[in-house]
Amino acid sequence: MKIVSKSNSSQRFKHLKTGSKEHYPEVEVRYSSRRRKTASASWEGERIVLTVPATLHGNDRAAVVDALVQKLLSTRPYVRASDDDLILRAKELADQYLGGVYPTAVQWSKGQLKRWGSCTAATGTIRISERLKAAPSWVIDGVLLHELAHLIEPNHSERFKVLTAKYPRMAEVQAFLEGFSLATEQLRNKV
Ligand SMILES: [Zn+2]
Repeated sequence: MKIVSKSNSSQRFKHLKTGSKEHYPEVEVRYSSRRRKTASASWEGERIVLTVPATLHGNDRAAVVDALVQKLLSTRPYVRASDDDLILRAKELADQYLGGVYPTAVQWSKGQLKRWGSCTAATGTIRISERLKAAPSWVIDGVLLHELAHLIEPNHSERFKVLTAKYPRMAEVQAFLEGFSLATEQLRNKV
């Protein structure tokens, strides 16, 4: 298999409708001479990697690539979410589970290497680690909800647990994050 082109999706997929340009994931297109009919696409971390039959050209190729990118993006909407998108989502979750306790700001954070999220209750600011961007949306929803609950209850008290337990997949979120921590630590040790 030969890698013919590497491109940043912000240039190649300008016409995708939602999200701001700088938050598009990188898309790599590989052309395979062994593949005759079907194209495939998958996430590799925060990148989308597509394998397309080398025989597919022009508009056909563009249409296949575009459809697969759209499909994958819909499975991980947070990959291209901006801070504005984050606060909108946080408010939706607050309405749904916590009776509408709103943060003043929600931001992606580059600096958070040991925590997945944090909440400064005094200012109402929530930060979510950028390392979570490629995680499934229900995981990031869970982390957002955890931090939102800190706006009501600062400690991991019984009251806090009652609040966060309203999110049905909270136990799965914990399990995912434990596995994710372990995996990323192992990756770091490899370097
Ligand atoms: Zn906490």
